[in-house]
Amino acid sequence: MKVVKIGGGCLKGKKNIEKIIELIVDRGMGHIFVVSALNGVTDFLIDSMSAALESDKNIPNIMSRLNNKHMLIARHLMPKDNIQKKFKQDLNKSLSKLERLYYGLSFTRETTPRMLDIISSFGERFSALLLSSVLRSMGVQATCRMPDNIGLITDGKFGDATVNLRKTTHNFQQNLKPLIKRNVVLFIPGFFGVSEEGDITTFGRGGSDYSSAVVAAAMKAEILEVWKDVDGYMSADPDFVPEAQLIPRLSYDEAAELSYFGAKILHPRTVEPLRSSRIKIAIKNTLNPDATGSLIASGSQKSKNIIKSVAHDDDIGIIKVHASGVGARLGILSIVSKQIAESGINIKSVVTSQTCISLLLALKDLEPGCRAIKAIHPKPFRRLEKIEDVALISIVGAGLIQSKGIAAKCFSAVAECGVNVEMISFGPSPVALYFLVHNKDLHCAVNAIHNKFFPKGF
Ligand code: ASP
Ligand code: MG
Repeated sequence: MKVVKIGGGCLKGKKNIEKIIELIVDRGMGHIFVVSALNGVTDFLIDSMSAALESDKNIPNIMSRLNNKHMLIARHLMPKDNIQKKFKQDLNKSLSKLERLYYGLSFTRETTPRMLDIISSFGERFSALLLSSVLRSMGVQATCRMPDNIGLITDGKFGDATVNLRKTTHNFQQNLKPLIKRNVVLFIPGFFGVSEEGDITTFGRGGSDYSSAVVAAAMKAEILEVWKDVDGYMSADPDFVPEAQLIPRLSYDEAAELSYFGAKILHPRTVEPLRSSRIKIAIKNTLNPDATGSLIASGSQKSKNIIKSVAHDDDIGIIKVHASGVGARLGILSIVSKQIAESGINIKSVVTSQTCISLLLALKDLEPGCRAIKAIHPKPFRRLEKIEDVALISIVGAGLIQSKGIAAKCFSAVAECGVNVEMISFGPSPVALYFLVHNKDLHCAVNAIHNKFFPKGF
């Protein structure tokens, strides 16, 4: 049995959804599908929280937009029969629960992480309900189960939960095995689970990938397929480097590393639940379903030149926290990072020297990050510096640390195009080396490195 993840990018518009349905009918019998919300729905649910806080008069409009978005697809893909009627009833039931939550929000005038997680889980509930109903209306035995009803148990951390794989496996084996034996197509909403106390907790934005890995591990699936609108991981961003090639095979570590700083093909935590069971992940393009795609497996297959990909990220800025004796002062790093985390800001990476801690953040987080650090008392630093004009390049490949000359080859390519390297981090990950350049040099540097490692005819 396979577990298949269908991303929100594929669930966009009537035509694409119709195509996905055809694919499921063609190759989905007896498999489990973990689905994202329809494209844009999670953003809409979250944005609507502010609208509901502003005035309860906005709520009817929110509800009718959600209803229309899903009914439009339902009417397009289902005949007007009892199954469509039943879907409409189920959707309305779910919508009215959501409506009560928005009114509650508007009444209490308070948003909490708990509320954010419950409300944002509805997109996946709707899409799983929709797809399973469409299949049923075509005569396919399909059904859906909500994570909170089948025991997808989390640690209860709102917005960034981790699964309890032992308990979830036990529950799934009991609750889902009999269904799968009957060869039905089973849909499970991605993105969230439930804590032992009964709280709905999400796995963070993009977390349906992680959910699908949890389901694959708990059901001991033969493979996890991730259906997307691209072929897979590439040796560089093809918009940036036209000669970029598909990477046919990656290790778990390489995929995770590239998910942080390169192509956002998978949520970075997707490989976590699969490591011990060694279940492979296949990336499949729904627009080109027979293409090979990328296969992610435990252990790596070294490529000829060690490097698999030259990734970049220009949504990056640095806060430099200048303080003397960083290396000798107990706890300074944790004081700074705790303050940032408590302000809800994600640190992409940290590079330290004896006189400075450099925090790499998304650009939108730079200003709030500085404010958070300035609020620390007593002040643990001398000076703060904010740098926006940088981009990160990472070269990724298993064996990169142990192989001689990789860093030299990379930096000579960068130097040959006259680019200065602003900061280097090498060592924390056994499969990646990353460094910063000025924004204006990014294009030239990425292409130069790619040419060096993937010369013509490689
Ligand atoms: N729907 C959620 C999001 O947009 C989860 C996901 O699609 O993976 O973040
Ligand atoms: Mg995604």
